Amino acid sequence: MKHNFGAGPGILPHEVLKQASEAVIDFNGTGLSLLEISHRSKEFEAVLDEAVSLVKELFNVPEGYSVLFLQGGASTQFALAPYNLLPEGGKAAYVETGVWANKALKEAKYFGEVQVVASSKEANFTYIPKDFEIPADASYIHITSNNTIYGTQLREFFKSPIPVVCDMSSDIFSRVVNVADFGLIYAGAQKNMGPAGVTLVIVKDDLLGKTGRKIPAMFNYQTQIEGGSMYNTPPVFAIYVSMLTLKWLKAKGGVPAIEQENITKARVLYEEIDRNPLFKAVAAIEDRSKMNVCFVMENPELEKPFLKLAEERGIVGIKGHRSVGGFRASIYNALPISSIYVLIDVMQEFAEKNK
Ligand code: PLP
Repeated sequence: MKHNFGAGPGILPHEVLKQASEAVIDFNGTGLSLLEISHRSKEFEAVLDEAVSLVKELFNVPEGYSVLFLQGGASTQFALAPYNLLPEGGKAAYVETGVWANKALKEAKYFGEVQVVASSKEANFTYIPKDFEIPADASYIHITSNNTIYGTQLREFFKSPIPVVCDMSSDIFSRVVNVADFGLIYAGAQKNMGPAGVTLVIVKDDLLGKTGRKIPAMFNYQTQIEGGSMYNTPPVFAIYVSMLTLKWLKAKGGVPAIEQENITKARVLYEEIDRNPLFKAVAAIEDRSKMNVCFVMENPELEKPFLKLAEERGIVGIKGHRSVGGFRASIYNALPISSIYVLIDVMQEFAEKNK
């Protein structure tokens, strides 16, 4: 058995994968593959409707927000957020907490002025800056809720006088969030919600239509809202698997229940890292992510043999990102705590052998 700690694409529940694979052959007894039915068929429309309702229910999305399933990944949203929300000649504020935040702010520069209000670049993004002012004259402030590469997470969202735009790609549906505090939330599905190929967008309707610029149809949230995420052919498979994953989450007790599990999962793993003399956590304690746990070894020469032992025990995907090194255990919603105990056992066994 494999224990999948991969950062992205991340682990999906086994029963979801099983149902999805069956649907590829025969979708709900239609005698057709999910991949060959029309996206305008009543069968697929029911899938999309259910996916949207599940997002609304699981995240308590208030009235006045639209839920979209789009293509192009979170990276496309780096551009679409300013395209749709930043007026000509306007300004947007960005908090730079990693490579993804940096990519987002670079895209915004195509559309207007960008003010980087805080950055932790000088510390290789090992912490989340909290001491900054939000410029009242900016159209929005952009944040990244979880920094996948560095294992830092914004534990508490702040209240803001201007709309908050948030990249939640790597911790969407892992914890309770008050959607009303945000103007726009977006997340590539492939970490905590489904397969690559679809991006969730939750946008506050009354922020739209104010830029004064013409926006091509596919890049315009308004067109996508009017088309019900079907202005063009949607990624049916990715939406279907996301819907199944959201259903799985609902059956588990929804976001509050998974949040409790995630708290426990992260706690036991960080406890072992802090206790075990061979390992050291990378992120500032108060900003430690409950989704991506980054750690290095006090003696880097031991990293290769540790990785080898971990792989022998069925652990996959724990090699750290090249810009951080060491290890990254991604412990997304679908990873059972039993897999974390397997990792902990390997860490203890390795420490015992290398006393
Ligand atoms: N934002 C965050 C926080 C990410 O972790 C990633 C990918 O890992 C991205 C954005 C980019 O997502 P995509 O590959 O869907 O464009």
